[in-house]
Amino acid sequence: MSAQPRPLSRCVRRALRLARARTPSRHPCRRASGAGKRGGGLAEGTGFEVALETGAPIGARRLLVTSGLTDELPDVPGVRERWGGDVIHCPYCHGWEIRGQAIGVLASGPVGVHQALMFRQWTDSLMLILHTTDAPPPDQAEQLAARGIEVVPGVVERLEITDGRQHGVRLQDGRVFARQTIVVGPRMVAVSPVLDSLGLKPVAHPMGSEVAEVYAADPSGATEVKGVWVAGNVCDIAAQVISAAAQGMFVAAAVNADLTSEETQADVMRAREVV
Ligand SMILES: Cc1cc2nc3c(=O)[nH]c(=O)nc-3n(C[C@H](O)[C@H](O)[C@H](O)COP(=O)(O)OP(=O)(O)OC[C@H]3O[C@@H](n4cnc5c(N)ncnc54)[C@H](O)[C@@H]3O)c2cc1C
Repeated sequence: MSAQPRPLSRCVRRALRLARARTPSRHPCRRASGAGKRGGGLAEGTGFEVALETGAPIGARRLLVTSGLTDELPDVPGVRERWGGDVIHCPYCHGWEIRGQAIGVLASGPVGVHQALMFRQWTDSLMLILHTTDAPPPDQAEQLAARGIEVVPGVVERLEITDGRQHGVRLQDGRVFARQTIVVGPRMVAVSPVLDSLGLKPVAHPMGSEVAEVYAADPSGATEVKGVWVAGNVCDIAAQVISAAAQGMFVAAAVNADLTSEETQADVMRAREVV
């Protein structure tokens, strides 16, 4: 076995240099002072230090970031107020609760037609309001028509809300449609000052950055910066609660395997020095 420092240590040191070179963020990562002197015989200079808002530092040999994502909602009055109630985005989260209702899909990006077809499984009264999007191409228009989904051109001015309940949609041309539930397609954006401070940047979703931007990782959850892993919505927009939690457990096992390997290699090298 080579007595050279492991590639991991070089890469982590590079990450820490990047972190120091950047403008300090709210959650900057820095070198963990003395981390290399702890049990396990780690190479000098490896590890991270995460600064909390309180100023208290937390040292770690590895990072697993699970900071989720932000939903950027369409800028329509009423949407933010009713978000998560009767303004929703996900049939797997809310389908049962809104079954049979008059539903309007407020299209603001490329997933509007897809959402309309999915929510059609939950109601016979489904309307696709084009808002800021173009009319669907012929193949999608055929699918919508076959499923009995009305396509309404026009920009939404605001949601009609009375006594804290959504009941309609008002278009800029003055038309009002009675709709109990509104479906929106938020732009999903992972924002992590911690990962940014290490030189990582969110990448565009295959359907485009107008759909989502999250941080890339390999199947084990490892990022391009050695020693830094991610799990859940910060790297996967499709993760639900149970799958995000499962990813966290799976990736934590990968982190532990990495630590096991590092500690074992360090002890092997120490044992060789004794011999
Ligand atoms: C309206 C709505 C309804 C949903 N309903 C369901 C449902 O019914 N069932 C379901 O399975 N899923 C549902 N989801 C999806 C579910 O919320 C996500 O799949 C899940 O929360 C992802 O878990 P996560 O741990 O990756 O991220 P999150 O749950 O978002 O957790 C990330 C955490 O990190 C914290 N954080 C972020 N940045 C920092 C920082 N710099 N320092 C410290 N902490 C930080 C955040 O405050 C947050 O607590 C719903 C989502 C929405 C928006």
